[in-house]
Amino acid sequence: MSKYWSDFVHDLVPYVPGEQPKIANLVKLNTNENPYPPSSKAIAAMQAELGENLRRYPDPTSAVLVDAIAANFNVPRECVFVGNGSDEVLAHVFFGLFCHEQPILFPDVTYSFYPVYCGLYGIEYTQVQLDEQYRICVDDYLEEAGAEANGGIILPNPNAPTGVPLALSEIERLVAGNSNSVVVIDEAYVDFGAESAIALTQKYPNLLVTQTLSKSRSLAGLRVGYAIGHPALIEALVRIKDSFNSYPLDRLAIVGAAAALQDRDYFAATCKAVIDSRDALVAELSVLGFDVLPSAANFIFARHATRGGAELAQALREKAVLVRHFRKPERIAPFLRITVGLPSENAALVAALREILS
Ligand code: PMP
Repeated sequence: MSKYWSDFVHDLVPYVPGEQPKIANLVKLNTNENPYPPSSKAIAAMQAELGENLRRYPDPTSAVLVDAIAANFNVPRECVFVGNGSDEVLAHVFFGLFCHEQPILFPDVTYSFYPVYCGLYGIEYTQVQLDEQYRICVDDYLEEAGAEANGGIILPNPNAPTGVPLALSEIERLVAGNSNSVVVIDEAYVDFGAESAIALTQKYPNLLVTQTLSKSRSLAGLRVGYAIGHPALIEALVRIKDSFNSYPLDRLAIVGAAAALQDRDYFAATCKAVIDSRDALVAELSVLGFDVLPSAANFIFARHATRGGAELAQALREKAVLVRHFRKPERIAPFLRITVGLPSENAALVAALREILS
Protein backbone atom coordinates (compact mmCIF):
# COMPACT_ATOMS: atom_id res chain seq x y z
CA MET A 1 0.00 0.00 0.00
CA SER A 2 1.19 3.49 -0.78
CA LYS A 3 -0.37 6.90 -0.98
CA TYR A 4 1.06 7.13 -4.50
CA TRP A 5 -1.06 4.24 -5.78
CA SER A 6 -4.24 4.83 -7.74
CA ASP A 7 -7.46 3.55 -6.11
CA PHE A 8 -7.59 1.01 -8.89
CA VAL A 9 -4.24 -0.54 -7.90
CA HIS A 10 -5.33 -0.87 -4.27
CA ASP A 11 -8.17 -3.11 -5.38
CA LEU A 12 -6.24 -5.31 -7.85
CA VAL A 13 -5.92 -9.02 -7.04
CA PRO A 14 -2.95 -10.21 -9.16
CA TYR A 15 -2.30 -13.73 -10.44
CA VAL A 16 0.25 -15.76 -8.46
CA PRO A 17 2.48 -17.83 -10.76
CA GLY A 18 4.02 -21.13 -9.64
CA GLU A 19 7.30 -20.78 -7.78
CA GLN A 20 10.68 -20.74 -9.53
CA PRO A 21 12.90 -21.48 -6.50
CA LYS A 22 16.68 -21.77 -6.68
CA ILE A 23 17.05 -24.98 -4.70
CA ALA A 24 19.76 -27.39 -5.87
CA ASN A 25 18.65 -30.83 -7.13
CA LEU A 26 15.03 -29.85 -7.04
CA VAL A 27 12.56 -32.05 -8.92
CA LYS A 28 10.46 -29.25 -10.36
CA LEU A 29 7.03 -30.46 -11.40
CA ASN A 30 5.00 -27.35 -10.52
CA THR A 31 4.72 -25.07 -13.57
CA ASN A 32 4.03 -27.37 -16.53
CA GLU A 33 7.30 -26.65 -18.28
CA ASN A 34 8.53 -29.17 -20.85
CA PRO A 35 11.28 -31.46 -19.47
CA TYR A 36 13.04 -31.56 -22.85
CA PRO A 37 15.19 -28.71 -24.23
CA PRO A 38 13.99 -26.46 -27.08
CA SER A 39 14.67 -27.52 -30.69
CA SER A 40 18.39 -27.16 -31.53
CA LYS A 41 17.25 -25.37 -34.71
CA ALA A 42 15.49 -22.74 -32.59
CA ILE A 43 18.64 -22.22 -30.51
CA ALA A 44 20.79 -21.97 -33.67
CA ALA A 45 18.40 -19.38 -35.17
CA MET A 46 18.62 -17.27 -32.00
CA GLN A 47 22.40 -17.56 -31.90
CA ALA A 48 22.60 -16.39 -35.51
CA GLU A 49 20.43 -13.36 -34.62
CA LEU A 50 22.56 -12.46 -31.61
CA GLY A 51 24.78 -9.59 -32.71
CA GLU A 52 24.95 -6.11 -34.10
CA ASN A 53 21.29 -6.29 -35.21
CA LEU A 54 20.08 -5.92 -31.63
CA ARG A 55 20.84 -2.21 -32.00
CA ARG A 56 17.69 -2.02 -34.13
CA TYR A 57 14.06 -2.42 -33.08
CA PRO A 58 12.43 -5.69 -34.11
CA ASP A 59 9.75 -5.89 -36.81
CA PRO A 60 6.60 -4.59 -35.03
CA THR A 61 4.46 -7.04 -37.02
CA SER A 62 6.74 -10.08 -36.34
CA ALA A 63 6.08 -11.04 -39.97
CA VAL A 64 8.59 -13.92 -40.04
CA LEU A 65 6.84 -15.58 -37.11
CA VAL A 66 3.31 -14.79 -38.32
CA ASP A 67 4.17 -16.43 -41.65
CA ALA A 68 5.64 -19.49 -39.91
CA ILE A 69 2.46 -19.89 -37.84
CA ALA A 70 0.22 -19.39 -40.89
CA ALA A 71 2.18 -22.02 -42.84
CA ASN A 72 2.24 -24.47 -39.93
CA PHE A 73 -1.54 -24.36 -39.46
CA ASN A 74 -2.50 -23.73 -43.07
CA VAL A 75 -4.39 -20.49 -42.38
CA PRO A 76 -4.05 -17.03 -44.03
CA ARG A 77 -1.56 -14.71 -42.30
CA GLU A 78 -4.42 -12.23 -41.65
CA CYS A 79 -5.82 -14.82 -39.22
CA VAL A 80 -2.72 -14.78 -36.95
CA PHE A 81 -1.81 -12.55 -33.99
CA VAL A 82 1.37 -12.98 -31.92
CA GLY A 83 2.22 -11.76 -28.43
CA ASN A 84 4.63 -11.94 -25.52
CA GLY A 85 3.40 -15.28 -24.20
CA SER A 86 -0.21 -16.37 -24.53
CA ASP A 87 -0.86 -14.57 -21.24
CA GLU A 88 -0.34 -11.28 -23.06
CA VAL A 89 -2.46 -12.45 -25.99
CA LEU A 90 -5.22 -13.40 -23.52
CA ALA A 91 -4.98 -10.01 -21.80
CA HIS A 92 -5.63 -8.31 -25.16
CA VAL A 93 -8.48 -10.75 -25.84
CA PHE A 94 -10.21 -9.84 -22.58
CA PHE A 95 -9.82 -6.12 -23.25
CA GLY A 96 -10.54 -6.19 -26.97
CA LEU A 97 -13.18 -8.88 -27.36
CA PHE A 98 -14.80 -9.40 -23.94
CA CYS A 99 -15.54 -5.90 -22.62
CA HIS A 100 -19.29 -5.94 -23.12
CA GLU A 101 -22.52 -5.49 -21.18
CA GLN A 102 -23.10 -9.12 -20.27
CA PRO A 103 -20.88 -11.27 -18.05
CA ILE A 104 -18.41 -13.60 -19.73
CA LEU A 105 -18.53 -17.31 -18.91
CA PHE A 106 -15.74 -19.70 -17.93
CA PRO A 107 -15.58 -22.88 -15.82
CA ASP A 108 -15.45 -22.68 -12.01
CA VAL A 109 -12.31 -24.81 -12.09
CA THR A 110 -10.00 -23.39 -14.77
CA TYR A 111 -6.94 -21.22 -15.46
CA SER A 112 -6.84 -18.85 -12.50
CA PHE A 113 -5.63 -15.93 -14.63
CA TYR A 114 -9.10 -15.46 -16.20
CA PRO A 115 -10.70 -13.80 -13.16
CA VAL A 116 -7.56 -11.67 -12.77
CA TYR A 117 -7.97 -10.24 -16.30
CA CYS A 118 -11.62 -9.58 -15.48
CA GLY A 119 -10.50 -7.61 -12.41
CA LEU A 120 -7.95 -5.67 -14.45
CA TYR A 121 -10.43 -4.66 -17.15
CA GLY A 122 -13.62 -4.46 -15.08
CA ILE A 123 -15.33 -7.36 -16.84
CA GLU A 124 -18.23 -9.16 -15.12
CA TYR A 125 -18.01 -12.95 -15.18
CA THR A 126 -19.97 -16.05 -14.21
CA GLN A 127 -18.19 -19.26 -13.30
CA VAL A 128 -19.96 -22.30 -14.71
CA GLN A 129 -19.64 -25.50 -12.65
CA LEU A 130 -17.86 -28.53 -14.05
CA ASP A 131 -19.87 -31.74 -13.64
CA GLU A 132 -19.06 -34.32 -10.92
CA GLN A 133 -16.40 -35.83 -13.16
CA TYR A 134 -14.75 -32.43 -13.61
CA ARG A 135 -15.93 -32.18 -17.24
CA ILE A 136 -17.12 -29.08 -19.11
CA CYS A 137 -20.77 -29.41 -20.26
CA VAL A 138 -21.45 -27.33 -23.36
CA ASP A 139 -25.19 -26.97 -22.68
CA ASP A 140 -24.36 -25.05 -19.49
CA TYR A 141 -22.94 -22.26 -21.69
CA LEU A 142 -25.65 -22.10 -24.37
CA GLU A 143 -28.45 -19.58 -24.09
CA GLU A 144 -30.72 -21.82 -26.19
CA ALA A 145 -30.23 -24.53 -23.53
CA GLY A 146 -31.14 -22.16 -20.68
CA ALA A 147 -27.81 -20.51 -19.82
CA GLU A 148 -27.66 -16.74 -19.26
CA ALA A 149 -26.75 -14.41 -22.15
CA ASN A 150 -23.00 -13.87 -22.25
CA GLY A 151 -20.46 -11.29 -23.39
CA GLY A 152 -18.00 -14.03 -24.39
CA ILE A 153 -16.90 -17.52 -23.41
CA ILE A 154 -13.39 -18.77 -22.65
CA LEU A 155 -12.22 -22.25 -21.78
CA PRO A 156 -8.97 -24.14 -22.05
CA ASN A 157 -8.86 -27.38 -24.02
CA PRO A 158 -7.67 -29.51 -22.35
CA ASN A 159 -8.87 -27.70 -19.24
CA ALA A 160 -6.35 -26.58 -16.61
CA PRO A 161 -5.62 -27.64 -13.91
CA THR A 162 -7.72 -30.77 -14.52
CA GLY A 163 -6.12 -31.84 -17.84
CA VAL A 164 -9.53 -33.11 -19.00
CA PRO A 165 -10.15 -32.60 -22.75
CA LEU A 166 -13.37 -31.59 -24.53
CA ALA A 167 -14.21 -33.28 -27.88
CA LEU A 168 -13.91 -31.12 -30.99
CA SER A 169 -17.54 -31.89 -31.91
CA GLU A 170 -18.61 -30.35 -28.56
CA ILE A 171 -16.47 -27.27 -29.19
CA GLU A 172 -18.09 -26.85 -32.60
CA ARG A 173 -21.52 -27.15 -30.99
CA LEU A 174 -20.56 -24.42 -28.53
CA VAL A 175 -19.22 -22.07 -31.20
CA ALA A 176 -22.13 -22.68 -33.60
CA GLY A 177 -24.67 -22.20 -30.81
CA ASN A 178 -23.13 -18.96 -29.51
CA SER A 179 -22.92 -16.73 -32.57
CA ASN A 180 -23.57 -13.44 -30.71
CA SER A 181 -20.28 -13.37 -28.83
CA VAL A 182 -16.71 -14.60 -29.15
CA VAL A 183 -15.72 -18.09 -27.98
CA VAL A 184 -12.03 -18.40 -27.07
CA ILE A 185 -10.43 -21.83 -26.83
CA ASP A 186 -7.16 -21.62 -24.90
CA GLU A 187 -5.10 -24.48 -26.32
CA ALA A 188 -1.98 -24.03 -24.16
CA TYR A 189 -1.75 -27.83 -23.69
CA VAL A 190 -3.56 -29.15 -26.78
CA ASP A 191 -0.52 -30.85 -28.34
CA PHE A 192 -0.35 -33.44 -25.58
CA GLY A 193 -3.48 -35.25 -26.67
CA ALA A 194 -6.52 -33.03 -27.33
CA GLU A 195 -7.97 -31.99 -30.71
CA SER A 196 -7.23 -28.46 -31.92
CA ALA A 197 -10.08 -26.20 -33.04
CA ILE A 198 -7.83 -24.14 -35.35
CA ALA A 199 -9.43 -25.54 -38.54
CA LEU A 200 -12.85 -24.37 -37.28
CA THR A 201 -11.63 -20.74 -37.21
CA GLN A 202 -11.96 -20.77 -41.00
CA LYS A 203 -15.65 -21.60 -40.68
CA TYR A 204 -16.81 -19.57 -37.65
CA PRO A 205 -16.11 -15.80 -37.36
CA ASN A 206 -16.76 -15.91 -33.58
CA LEU A 207 -14.04 -18.47 -32.74
CA LEU A 208 -10.55 -17.51 -31.54
CA VAL A 209 -7.95 -20.14 -30.63
CA THR A 210 -4.87 -19.30 -28.56
CA GLN A 211 -1.71 -21.38 -28.27
CA THR A 212 1.74 -20.99 -26.73
CA LEU A 213 5.33 -22.05 -27.37
CA SER A 214 5.84 -22.41 -23.60
CA LYS A 215 4.70 -26.02 -23.29
CA SER A 216 4.91 -28.31 -26.34
CA ARG A 217 7.78 -26.29 -27.85
CA SER A 218 9.83 -26.04 -24.64
CA LEU A 219 10.18 -22.25 -24.87
CA ALA A 220 8.54 -20.92 -21.70
CA GLY A 221 11.58 -18.68 -21.18
CA LEU A 222 11.19 -17.01 -24.59
CA ARG A 223 7.61 -15.77 -24.03
CA VAL A 224 5.76 -16.37 -27.29
CA GLY A 225 2.05 -17.04 -27.76
CA TYR A 226 -0.41 -16.53 -30.59
CA ALA A 227 -4.06 -16.39 -31.52
CA ILE A 228 -5.75 -17.66 -34.68
CA GLY A 229 -9.18 -16.47 -35.79
CA HIS A 230 -11.19 -14.38 -38.24
CA PRO A 231 -9.27 -11.31 -39.53
CA ALA A 232 -11.77 -8.99 -37.78
CA LEU A 233 -10.92 -10.55 -34.39
CA ILE A 234 -7.20 -10.33 -35.18
CA GLU A 235 -7.56 -6.66 -36.12
CA ALA A 236 -9.05 -5.92 -32.69
CA LEU A 237 -6.01 -7.52 -31.03
CA VAL A 238 -3.59 -5.59 -33.26
CA ARG A 239 -5.36 -2.34 -32.37
CA ILE A 240 -4.93 -3.08 -28.65
CA LYS A 241 -1.31 -4.15 -29.11
CA ASP A 242 -0.46 -1.00 -31.04
CA SER A 243 -2.02 1.09 -28.27
CA PHE A 244 0.05 -0.70 -25.62
CA ASN A 245 3.45 -1.89 -26.89
CA SER A 246 4.52 -1.85 -30.54
CA TYR A 247 7.30 -4.40 -30.01
CA PRO A 248 6.07 -7.17 -27.71
CA LEU A 249 8.35 -9.74 -29.36
CA ASP A 250 12.08 -9.15 -29.52
CA ARG A 251 14.36 -10.17 -32.38
CA LEU A 252 15.47 -13.40 -30.70
CA ALA A 253 11.90 -14.47 -29.93
CA ILE A 254 10.73 -13.87 -33.50
CA VAL A 255 13.40 -16.04 -35.16
CA GLY A 256 13.60 -18.64 -32.36
CA ALA A 257 9.85 -19.23 -32.31
CA ALA A 258 9.65 -19.43 -36.12
CA ALA A 259 12.43 -22.05 -36.21
CA ALA A 260 10.82 -24.04 -33.38
CA LEU A 261 7.54 -24.20 -35.30
CA GLN A 262 9.35 -25.37 -38.42
CA ASP A 263 11.10 -28.22 -36.59
CA ARG A 264 8.09 -30.53 -36.75
CA ASP A 265 10.02 -33.78 -36.23
CA TYR A 266 11.52 -32.67 -32.92
CA PHE A 267 8.14 -31.35 -31.79
CA ALA A 268 6.44 -34.67 -32.59
CA ALA A 269 9.16 -36.69 -30.83
CA THR A 270 9.13 -34.64 -27.60
CA CYS A 271 5.32 -34.56 -27.43
CA LYS A 272 5.26 -38.34 -27.80
CA ALA A 273 7.91 -38.78 -25.09
CA VAL A 274 5.86 -36.61 -22.67
CA ILE A 275 2.64 -38.47 -23.49
CA ASP A 276 4.31 -41.87 -22.97
CA SER A 277 5.78 -40.70 -19.63
CA ARG A 278 2.39 -39.36 -18.56
CA ASP A 279 0.70 -42.67 -19.22
CA ALA A 280 3.40 -44.55 -17.28
CA LEU A 281 3.15 -42.07 -14.37
CA VAL A 282 -0.64 -42.40 -14.19
CA ALA A 283 -0.27 -46.19 -13.91
CA GLU A 284 2.28 -45.88 -11.08
CA LEU A 285 0.21 -43.34 -9.15
CA SER A 286 -2.88 -45.54 -9.42
CA VAL A 287 -0.94 -48.34 -7.72
CA LEU A 288 -0.12 -45.90 -4.88
CA GLY A 289 -3.82 -45.21 -4.31
CA PHE A 290 -4.29 -42.08 -6.42
CA ASP A 291 -7.34 -41.31 -8.50
CA VAL A 292 -6.09 -39.47 -11.60
CA LEU A 293 -8.42 -37.49 -13.88
CA PRO A 294 -8.09 -38.46 -17.59
CA SER A 295 -5.40 -36.07 -18.86
CA ALA A 296 -4.67 -34.85 -22.38
CA ALA A 297 -2.06 -32.38 -21.05
CA ASN A 298 1.60 -32.44 -19.92
CA PHE A 299 0.38 -32.57 -16.32
CA ILE A 300 -1.99 -34.71 -14.32
CA PHE A 301 -4.51 -33.89 -11.60
CA ALA A 302 -4.51 -36.55 -8.91
CA ARG A 303 -6.01 -37.07 -5.46
CA HIS A 304 -5.12 -39.72 -2.94
CA ALA A 305 -7.74 -41.99 -1.39
CA THR A 306 -6.83 -41.06 2.20
CA ARG A 307 -4.27 -38.21 2.28
CA GLY A 308 -5.02 -34.52 1.65
CA GLY A 309 -3.55 -32.42 -1.17
CA ALA A 310 -1.95 -29.70 0.99
CA GLU A 311 -0.36 -32.28 3.27
CA LEU A 312 1.10 -34.28 0.37
CA ALA A 313 2.39 -31.16 -1.42
CA GLN A 314 4.19 -30.10 1.77
CA ALA A 315 5.65 -33.58 2.39
CA LEU A 316 6.92 -33.70 -1.20
CA ARG A 317 8.45 -30.26 -0.83
CA GLU A 318 10.42 -31.48 2.19
CA LYS A 319 11.85 -34.12 -0.13
CA ALA A 320 12.75 -31.47 -2.75
CA VAL A 321 9.91 -32.43 -5.10
CA LEU A 322 7.77 -29.47 -6.11
CA VAL A 323 4.19 -29.96 -7.35
CA ARG A 324 1.30 -27.45 -7.44
CA HIS A 325 -1.57 -27.42 -4.96
CA PHE A 326 -4.62 -25.14 -5.18
CA ARG A 327 -6.57 -24.43 -1.98
CA LYS A 328 -9.49 -22.94 -3.89
CA PRO A 329 -12.08 -23.74 -4.97
CA GLU A 330 -12.51 -26.19 -2.09
CA ARG A 331 -13.65 -28.87 -4.50
CA ILE A 332 -10.13 -29.24 -5.89
CA ALA A 333 -8.24 -28.92 -2.58
CA PRO A 334 -7.69 -32.73 -2.36
CA PHE A 335 -5.81 -32.72 -5.71
CA LEU A 336 -2.19 -32.26 -6.69
CA ARG A 337 -1.33 -30.90 -10.11
CA ILE A 338 1.81 -32.70 -11.20
CA THR A 339 3.78 -31.73 -14.31
CA VAL A 340 5.06 -34.69 -16.31
CA GLY A 341 8.87 -34.59 -16.04
CA LEU A 342 11.72 -36.66 -17.41
CA PRO A 343 11.35 -40.39 -16.68
CA SER A 344 14.01 -39.94 -13.94
CA GLU A 345 12.06 -37.05 -12.36
CA ASN A 346 8.80 -38.98 -12.46
CA ALA A 347 10.60 -41.90 -10.81
CA ALA A 348 11.90 -39.56 -8.06
CA LEU A 349 8.35 -38.30 -7.48
CA VAL A 350 6.95 -41.83 -7.23
CA ALA A 351 9.77 -42.90 -4.87
CA ALA A 352 9.13 -39.84 -2.63
CA LEU A 353 5.39 -40.53 -2.56
CA ARG A 354 5.97 -44.19 -1.75
CA GLU A 355 8.04 -43.15 1.29
CA ILE A 356 5.50 -40.54 2.40
CA LEU A 357 2.62 -42.98 2.13
CA SER A 358 4.35 -45.91 3.83
N1 PMP B 1 -3.32 -20.76 -20.63
C1 PMP B 1 -3.22 -21.72 -19.72
C2 PMP B 1 -4.38 -22.63 -19.49
C3 PMP B 1 -2.03 -21.87 -18.98
O1 PMP B 1 -1.93 -22.81 -18.03
C4 PMP B 1 -0.95 -21.00 -19.24
C5 PMP B 1 0.35 -21.15 -18.49
N2 PMP B 1 0.34 -20.73 -17.18
C6 PMP B 1 -1.12 -20.00 -20.18
C7 PMP B 1 -2.31 -19.91 -20.89
C8 PMP B 1 -0.08 -18.96 -20.47
O2 PMP B 1 1.08 -19.47 -21.02
P1 PMP B 1 2.20 -18.53 -21.61
O3 PMP B 1 1.94 -17.13 -21.16
O4 PMP B 1 3.48 -19.07 -21.10
O5 PMP B 1 2.07 -18.65 -23.11
